[in-house]
Amino acid sequence: MALSFEDARACVLREVSAGRGSLATEQVPSLEAAGRILAEEITADRDYPPFPRSARDGFAVRAADVPGELQVIGEVRAGEIFPGLVGPGGAVEIMTGAPLPEGADAVVMVEHTEHIGNLVRIARPVKSGENFNARGIEAKHGSVVLSPGRRLGFAEIALLAMVGQQCATVYGRPRVAILPTGDEIVEADQQPEPFQIRNSNAWSMAVQVARAGGDPRILPIARDNYESTRERIEQGLTHDLLLLSGGVSAGKYDIVERVLADLGAKFFFDRVLVQPGQPLVFGAAKGKFFFGLPGNPASTMVTFEVFARAAVELLGGANETPLPLLQAKLSKDVRHKPGLTRFLPAQVSADGSSVTPEPAWQGSGDVNSLARANAFLVTEPDRESWAAGDMIRVLLK
Ligand code: AMP
Ligand code: MG
Repeated sequence: MALSFEDARACVLREVSAGRGSLATEQVPSLEAAGRILAEEITADRDYPPFPRSARDGFAVRAADVPGELQVIGEVRAGEIFPGLVGPGGAVEIMTGAPLPEGADAVVMVEHTEHIGNLVRIARPVKSGENFNARGIEAKHGSVVLSPGRRLGFAEIALLAMVGQQCATVYGRPRVAILPTGDEIVEADQQPEPFQIRNSNAWSMAVQVARAGGDPRILPIARDNYESTRERIEQGLTHDLLLLSGGVSAGKYDIVERVLADLGAKFFFDRVLVQPGQPLVFGAAKGKFFFGLPGNPASTMVTFEVFARAAVELLGGANETPLPLLQAKLSKDVRHKPGLTRFLPAQVSADGSSVTPEPAWQGSGDVNSLARANAFLVTEPDRESWAAGDMIRVLLK
């Protein structure tokens, strides 16, 4: 059954979300939790901000008194509390991050004031509530600031520090078996015969799995015969997820699907209308999900990114698995044969605004072009051409 790119991706998200079962958790120091998926609720230990916090250097005033000339009755810096009260006609010089003194209901930016002796002249009006953050406006004491399923990036780790959490409970990393297949494949540390190919896919997949939060386990290469493939697949299915590379095309020795079928596999799809990567298999056997990724290196890399990566993330406890897709302006014309969603190696400019397809792209086996690229152009299956200057979808590498 051949699915569109969108339908195949939706199928992966649906099946893995529904079938992932209960996931193990562990507690780790918060810095080690970076990149992991949170497995607990984090709540605010107090109001944030904990006091009405000035967002500007300037003067704390009563908005009703402004414009006007006010009496400066003191100063408050970050890390201090002003002991008095701002009464009618009064102002307190205030620094960014300092608590708004009682009685004041706005801050006037220093740039809009003239400070002469103990008077301050303010020519323009200010609204009540302007230029400070009210106590508790960002988070109320006891409210949930982070929920389970959230990947902990720099902002989330900062939030843990802010609320005084030294540790976090996170989901375990899913153990992902990586199974290269092929009679022509030799390990990367071997000198290949002229007709042999070094196993590069296991390495790209290991990096991709780790980047998605998984724990990659590279298995020995399965040979293109039933016994070898079956033994390795059975070994692979003892992990949380099995990723195969190669052996899923229509060739005489592409026996991965046959072995999986004999092991009682359920196939959700075995063809997707994408390029590179059409003969892509996704299913479940012995209670584990598996992907049969096509062996051409570009196909393996692309299909991992757009399909298998989401499965690793979901098995790692993530709730959200968005694709890093954005739009950029094409620097030159692009044509393609409609029918497939194509992922073409490309270069996004430093400012992120324009994108250029890799000029020397040779198709699915071309690791060189992929290594030079920093992104993929993503074509629409029902459109034939784009002119220079048109916007097009881009998947960051
Ligand atoms: P297959 O999907 O098995 O028909 O393989 C397609 C192409 O990908 C062939 O040219 C293989 O030599 C190549 N290939 C398969 N597995 C790997 C691998 N692990 N590393 C590098 N290239 C591979
Ligand atoms: Mg093969």
